[in-house]
Amino acid sequence: MEDRDFDVVVVGCGCAGAIAAFVAAKKGKSVLVVERGEYAGAKNMTGGRLYAHSLRSVLEEYGAGEVDWDDIPFERKIVHERIALMDKASACTVDFSSEELGRETCDSYSVLRAPFDQWLSQLAEQAGCEVLCGMAVDELLRNDDGAIYGIRVGEDRITAHVVIVAEGANSLLTERCLGAPRPRPHQMAVGIKECFELPAGVIEDRFLCQPGEGAAMLFAGDCTHGYVGGGFMYTNKESISLGLVATIGHLQEADTTICQMLDDFKKHPAVAPMISGATLVEHSGHMVSEGGYDMVPRFVYDGCLVAGDAAMLCMNLGYQVRGMDFAIASGRLAAEAACEAIDSGDASCSALSAYKEAMESSFVIKDLKAYRSWPQVMDGWSGMFNEYPSMATAALNKLFTVDGSPSVPLKKRLKPIVKQYGIVKLARELKRAVDAL
Ligand SMILES: Cc1cc2nc3c(=O)[nH]c(=O)nc-3n(C[C@H](O)[C@H](O)[C@H](O)COP(=O)(O)OP(=O)(O)OC[C@H]3O[C@@H](n4cnc5c(N)ncnc54)[C@H](O)[C@@H]3O)c2cc1C
Repeated sequence: MEDRDFDVVVVGCGCAGAIAAFVAAKKGKSVLVVERGEYAGAKNMTGGRLYAHSLRSVLEEYGAGEVDWDDIPFERKIVHERIALMDKASACTVDFSSEELGRETCDSYSVLRAPFDQWLSQLAEQAGCEVLCGMAVDELLRNDDGAIYGIRVGEDRITAHVVIVAEGANSLLTERCLGAPRPRPHQMAVGIKECFELPAGVIEDRFLCQPGEGAAMLFAGDCTHGYVGGGFMYTNKESISLGLVATIGHLQEADTTICQMLDDFKKHPAVAPMISGATLVEHSGHMVSEGGYDMVPRFVYDGCLVAGDAAMLCMNLGYQVRGMDFAIASGRLAAEAACEAIDSGDASCSALSAYKEAMESSFVIKDLKAYRSWPQVMDGWSGMFNEYPSMATAALNKLFTVDGSPSVPLKKRLKPIVKQYGIVKLARELKRAVDAL
């Protein structure tokens, strides 16, 4: 192999990039990470709950004895789940808490990306990587045969045997330099989030949690004014992350903005008490891919691999949002394939295709494939965001109210509510959703 400045260059120091760099360095490779933020995490945002399994497995394999799980800047262990269907003034909420949610191997944690990504970046640096912050990669360098052999940062050209692109969901390099297709507006969403500071004790009282433990809540319906999307709430140590996600395609058709949706969401009677008396300390926005498996682009090229959100590895099931665990796993698999190829003296697409095989046999592609039709179901399911919340409210109002008038059997009360929407339509929609899940 020709001489290069580094064995591996990684673009982006988010979950995928930092873990790819860490693994490659642990395998003895010289690694440079280039991050456009002033520091890792400066430009990042997530909802955010991290399902910890892929981080645990990579640390067990490559950081055993060096990384103390308790040193990871997690916010709270999530042991309390809520899902709410909301109309303008009410919310029908499923509330679930279980020890199982906190059990090792299926545990999950709320995270704030600024501290979490800085920790990931330090992990990579301690393994021997160079991390260059405050500089954006402008271009991937290609030789006459079309193989990628490095990056351009401003006037500087830096060469590598393998470039791992982990630039996140707004993946301009993969589009511009690798020819990945531009996602369609209905496949991408915009996320908006605010963080509200509250004392730890108030959070624990408000969300019925023990110290160190926390709650997650997802919302559908009026939070996005009935457009496809949803709301989220995660408790951190001393703050609450509250936000919305809405698909760009639907926002283009909407008669309002996502900022207005968030303003209204915060005033909703089911949400306002959660942040009452809290201080707004942060506001952020970010893109997120919502198209599932069908929007995953090619992710193996001559001299180059694509990992994490840059490869559109994200999944929003409505009751579960996953991207960070995919990013960590794909970063690891990309680094392993890159190191193997470098060791064999061949970084061509066919040598690097071990990454594709590893991804296909891992949970990443298997899970995305398992829920492949879900994004289309959600995208065309207007009832879920409009009529279902109203039906649930009407049904529960009838169930729980007592005004002294003679009682009517439940079946008789519910029939007109369901009939108005259409029993066949409802049954068909529910079957379609169950089939997709
Ligand atoms: C509102 C919202 C809520 C979400 N909720 C969850 C959740 O609860 N759980 C979950 O698991 N996932 C969630 N996700 C998805 C999750 O955040 C992503 O899947 C995950 O962050 C992907 O990690 P990544 O490393 O691939 O990309 P990123 O974390 O986006 O990292 C990419 C990095 O590359 C850098 N970069 C970009 N371009 C360049 C360049 N040209 N040069 C140098 N550096 C560059 C960026 O600054 C950034 O640091 C959510 C996403 C959003 C937007």
